[in-house]
Amino acid sequence: MEQELNPSPEGFYGPFGGAYVPEILYKCVHDLQEAYLPILESEDFKREYRQLLHDYVGRPSPLYEARRLSRRYGCRIFLKREDLNHTGAHKINNTVGQILLARQMGKTRIIAETGAGQHGVATATVCALMGMPCEVFMGKTDVERQHTNVERMRMLGATVHPVTTGNMTLSDACSEAIRDWCCHPADTFYIVGSTMGPHPYPDIVARLQSVISEEIRWQLREKTGRDHPDWLVACVGGGSNAAGTIYHYVDDERVRIVLAEAAGRGTDTGHTAATIHCGSEGIIHGARTLVMQTADGQIEEAFTISAGLDYPGIGPMHAHLARQGREQVLAVTDAEAVRAGYELTRLEGIIPAIESAHAVAALGKLTFRHDDIVVLTVSGRGDKDVETYLAHKDMAGAYGEF
Ligand SMILES: *Cc1c(COP(=O)(O)O)cnc(C)c1O
Repeated sequence: MEQELNPSPEGFYGPFGGAYVPEILYKCVHDLQEAYLPILESEDFKREYRQLLHDYVGRPSPLYEARRLSRRYGCRIFLKREDLNHTGAHKINNTVGQILLARQMGKTRIIAETGAGQHGVATATVCALMGMPCEVFMGKTDVERQHTNVERMRMLGATVHPVTTGNMTLSDACSEAIRDWCCHPADTFYIVGSTMGPHPYPDIVARLQSVISEEIRWQLREKTGRDHPDWLVACVGGGSNAAGTIYHYVDDERVRIVLAEAAGRGTDTGHTAATIHCGSEGIIHGARTLVMQTADGQIEEAFTISAGLDYPGIGPMHAHLARQGREQVLAVTDAEAVRAGYELTRLEGIIPAIESAHAVAALGKLTFRHDDIVVLTVSGRGDKDVETYLAHKDMAGAYGEF
């Protein structure tokens, strides 16, 4: 099982992945490469991780059969409710695991990058839980547009560093976090927020998020009598909730995998974050993958109203699986996502994160048989996005008329 999601010893998924880091980080990254599997697979780690997921995060997250949504699309749709986790999204699964790894490795200082602030909040949360100092790098533009999350991080005791280089968004925050790591390689653990960055981070994050598909298996068996769906649907930014959703199904050919990336205004408008559709091979934040870049290799700014999907790269495993044809990747525009977000809200009483609404919008682009079983991961809740939904209500069609 899971062959396609296991990188080579050097961290490659086909041609993608690897660890392209400055020389000063070689030792640090190498130590992590040596340490992570024995720790993640140890009984002590597993016990503590499972316990925290259960008692602190609130897992297992429900698998909910969405009957009105199912009727709308003519199939059986189950929602994997990552929106119900503590702090409101799947990201906490990863930060709980990485902070245990950091502590086991004897690290005493935590750093992280954040875009919308969701990963920053999830990291600040586990640092408060463990009593460890936390420094978060965040583009100044994002600090201004995601002010509530900045205040949450500060309330949790983290120091937020506004980054003023480049476009002052997520990509610049990642670069700044790597720079800080270079200055403090011995005592600092960098908690990466998605299946990106140098090997072994994509593998660490995918393994920590794989609890999602592990739960889907037994929950689906309980509810339908079989442990695999016909379709898995998730949104993809860096790729962590998608990796967790598909982890235990990648080698199961009965399961079709559909991922939704953020097209922004459209893939042909120059205002997009659809990296798999529009990117080309390059290196970003320590990994070889698909990158949105100019002909001479300058990284291009991503555009989408969804701050959590606003990244010009993509996790190397998804670059590989998409190229292999194992993942069908759909580009979903801002307008389609807003409409789908309103639709889920009105049909099921669930306001999804605007990121997750991209996955919901993918449903309208697929053809189902009436007995098909679809599992769609709702990666996060939409409380943080109410203003975005209201600002773009004109995109919501009939649902926006209120
Ligand atoms: C950060 C985020 C995403 C995108 O990140 P992935 O690593 O691709 O999962 C998606 N949904 C929500 C709610 C997020 O906060």
